Parts: sequence; structure tokens; C-alpha cells
Amino acid sequence: MVAPDTPREAEVAVIGGGCMGASIAFHLARRDVDVVLLEKGHVASGATGHSGALVRQHYEARIGIRLARESLSFFQRFQKETGFSCDFRTTGFLSGTRERDVPAFDALLELLRSERVRAERLTPSEAKAMEPQLEVSDYAAVVHDPDAGYADPIATANGFASAAAVEGAKVFNDRTVTSIATRSGRVTGVKIRGEGLLASERVVVAAGNWTPDLVVAVGPRLPIRYVRGEVAILRRPFDFGAPPRIHFDFYGNTYSRPEGGKDTLAGYMNTDPGKTMRQYELLETLPATTVRDIRMRLTKRFPRMSEAQPRGGWAGAYDVSPDSYPILDRVGPEGLFVAVGFSGHGFKLSPEVGRLMAEYVATARRPELLESLRASRFGEGSPIQPDAPFPRRGRRLP
Ligand SMILES: Cc1cc2nc3c(=O)[nH]c(=O)nc-3n(C[C@H](O)[C@H](O)[C@H](O)COP(=O)(O)OP(=O)(O)OC[C@H]3O[C@@H](n4cnc5c(N)ncnc54)[C@H](O)[C@@H]3O)c2cc1C
Repeated sequence: MVAPDTPREAEVAVIGGGCMGASIAFHLARRDVDVVLLEKGHVASGATGHSGALVRQHYEARIGIRLARESLSFFQRFQKETGFSCDFRTTGFLSGTRERDVPAFDALLELLRSERVRAERLTPSEAKAMEPQLEVSDYAAVVHDPDAGYADPIATANGFASAAAVEGAKVFNDRTVTSIATRSGRVTGVKIRGEGLLASERVVVAAGNWTPDLVVAVGPRLPIRYVRGEVAILRRPFDFGAPPRIHFDFYGNTYSRPEGGKDTLAGYMNTDPGKTMRQYELLETLPATTVRDIRMRLTKRFPRMSEAQPRGGWAGAYDVSPDSYPILDRVGPEGLFVAVGFSGHGFKLSPEVGRLMAEYVATARRPELLESLRASRFGEGSPIQPDAPFPRRGRRLP
């Protein structure tokens, strides 16, 4: 029996109230599509609520740069577009190269510029003048993207969901989809725990780590594995100076950004592939040893962070695809769409992915940009390849 407030039918049902599902629902509602968003917990209770929420454009493949560039532009005008705040803060982004990697660094810089990213090449002393606490003695050059920043991931997902509701979408927390209903090779709706069928000819599964299990019952087994992502919060010494910009340290394996005025949020650049986990095992607390390990790595780049006070941290699961790019496609029965495999990058891509997926679902025509992100690319031997690969230096500190 369907509860009074849950509709019995919709043009499109979106499963998952993370930044992706909420963005897709918003962009569909904006196109006047009758859409229902179903979230089993509350909006942003999955990976989104655990996200570092960095928004950068520094990718090695054109597709990543384009999705990030358009999304960043949306974050900058989020309030104007949605009527809600995502608390986006522009900080700028810095990342350095050592002498031996200068050719790869310059090729990446060229790629970024060719995609209209404002990437500036700084000498180490220029970088030091810009970021006085940054250790630059081993750097030969530093890239600066002045437009990068971070947002509040919970406010972002809620902003999208609230704006979707303003545009006419029906948004529900505490609605668990138990299965996708099909008949004769077509989607007919979704079954909601304790409520029965919501009839819908199009269903978008944007359920993060839970997506493959929902899909496999009616469609293909998606090549996604789950990797633990960890984030530590460190209170900077009070006389540290201005909050430092986003920094990516490919050599010390850390990234960091300010968290409000006093704290730094830091995590590992290259997640240890050994840290696989079961998809439901959202381990939220971080052992003190991991927080100290992240601080120790960060100290190599920001020596004064040795005095930083650990304020805990958390972990969440990355849904990792074989090439670290998402699968944004129609799969299985007619009417079924998936947005999964964001590999630790999904937050920053959510505005543009939401727009493109909404276009795909509403028009049944795949936007050109999504062609390379089709599900079949792995079987065809055509995974996304970097256009300007930057060397990964592994997890060992120099
Ligand atoms: C520690 C960490 C740090 C990160 N840092 C960054 C970063 O700095 N920048 C960046 O761009 N990305 C980052 N990411 C990645 C980013 O957060 C994710 O890619 C993104 O949040 C994925 O959003 P989503 O909507 O696809 O999934 P989720 O946020 O997981 O949303 C899926 C939702 O579906 C719901 N759901 C599941 N099953 C059902 C069901 N059966 N019925 C109804 N609802 C269901 C879940 O409750 C959940 O709320 C980070 C991730 C982690 C874990």
C-alpha cells in the first residue's frame, strides 16, 4: 500500500539523495519533468556527507577537465541558479613539480590552458611569496589555479534537493528502494520498502556505493569496487597566518584545504588500493594513528603543521571504476540509467553530471560529452586515458 504522501507514479524516479541524485533531480525538474527523488536515509547521508568537497580543475584527461570546469562555474553561481547556498569558497589551488617531472608538468599545464583553465606557472619563490608556509625547496615549478575552492557538501546536496522541490520535484527521505521493477525488457518502476510500487518508465540509479547491487538484479554487473577514503581535521597553530590554499602534494601523497578559518582538512592523494571494503561498511571514525600519519605527511609540505592539533576525522567509501572515471549511461532494461563510479571525484563534478544526465534522461539522446563515459568502454578496451599523465610517486614519503 503506497503511503498517502508518496506518489504512485512519476515520469522519472531517481534513487539516491547524494549530490548526484539531487543534482539530477534538480536539472530534470527544471526541464519540467515530473520527478521523484527517493533517499533511504537523509539527503547527503552517503559519500556526499563524508566528502572533502574540493572543487578543482586539475585533471589529466580532457573529459575530467571539462566536467570539472563547467561544474566549478556552476558552484560559483550556485545561489543564483538554485536559490540556495552551497557555501562555495574560492581559495586557489597550488601543486608543485620536481625537476625530473617538469616535462610532464608542462604538458599538463598546456592541456589545462587549452581547456580554458586559468593555470599559472609559478617559480618556487613566487609560490613561496604567495603561500609563505609552503615548503618549496624541492619544487622546480608550481601550478596555480586561482579559481579552485571548496563547498559545503551537505549544503550542496540539500540545496539541489530543495531547489528541485521548488521546481516541482517530490523529494523523500526515509524511502528505501528494494528493487527495480521490469516487464518485457522495460523498466516499470521501483519498489519502495513498506510501500509498494512507484510506477515510472524511467529510473535513474544514483545510489553511490549501493548502485551495483540495485542494478545487478535487472541489468549488468557494474565493474565497481569500494575503497576507503579518509579525511583528517587539523587545527593550525594560531599564528600560522592566512589559511593556506588547496594544495596537492603528488610526492608526499597528501591534499589539503582550509576548513573554515582555523582548521585544515587533509587526506591522501592516492588512496591505497589495498583498502578495499564492503560497500555498506561506511566506517565513519578515523583511528588516531591515521590522523597522525596524515599530519606527518602534511608536515613535509607545511612544516608548521607539526604543531597542528588533531581534531579527528572520518572515512567513507569511494565507488571506484577501472579507469577512475564514472559510468554515466543507460544499462540493462529500457529506461534504466546509472550514474556511478565517481572514484573519489564525484562531488566537484555533480553540477555538470546532473545537467548532462538530466538531458540524457529527458530527451533519450546521449549528450556527446557522455559518449566516452559509456558502460561498455571497459569491455571494448577503451577506458578513459589521460591526455597528459602526471607521474604518480606512490605512497612513500621522500
Ligand atoms: C572521504 C571522502 C572524501 C572525498 N573528497 C572529495 C573531494 O574533495 N572532492 C570530490 O569531488 N569528491 C570527493 N569525494 C567523492 C564524492 O564525495 C563522491 O563521489 C560523491 O559524494 C558521490 O555522490 P553520490 O550522490 O554518487 O553518492 P552518495 O553521496 O553516496 O549518495 C547515494 C545515496 O543513495 C542512497 N541510497 C542508497 N541505496 C538506496 C536505496 N536502495 N534506496 C534509496 N536510497 C538509497 C544513500 O543513502 C545515499 O545517500 C570524497 C569521498 C569521500 C568518501
